[in-house]
Amino acid sequence: MFHNLSRTIVVAALLAGAAAVHADDPKCSASARECEQRIRQMLSGRRFLGVTIEEQRPGGLVVKAITAKSPAERYGLKEGDRLIALNGRSLTQASAKEFKQILAGARADGKLWLIIWRRGAYRRVDAQLEPYTKEQIDKIIAAHLAESHTTTAGAQ
Ligand SMILES: [Zn+2]
Repeated sequence: MFHNLSRTIVVAALLAGAAAVHADDPKCSASARECEQRIRQMLSGRRFLGVTIEEQRPGGLVVKAITAKSPAERYGLKEGDRLIALNGRSLTQASAKEFKQILAGARADGKLWLIIWRRGAYRRVDAQLEPYTKEQIDKIIAAHLAESHTTTAGAQ
């Protein structure tokens, strides 16, 4: 149960450009304390959207989960939304990695406009990247520690 939650949050952190949170490599070699400091430093003041994206082939990029109390939730993105374009760049052939790069490029002013496909229609969603709250950073750290710094990896 907690496992699923932690995965979602870590991926959401990744989408904000925190690549070194090493969610791609679940076995973390740094000490828990080192990691906690590194993640806190990396995410403090960083703007994020709060979506977890799934790459479907064919089908493109689909919103898999929305982080609670995130800009994504506030601006009305929903699970299952298909991402068509972000800030004028087409996403129909994009990988999740390219999506993250475009998102990272928007971090200066944080303004986003998305074209999504939902229930048979295109919609435009205007959103704004916002800094992580301390509470959110704490959650991400807890999730990372639970996922990558325990010896119970087999217990799911
Ligand atoms: Zn770690």
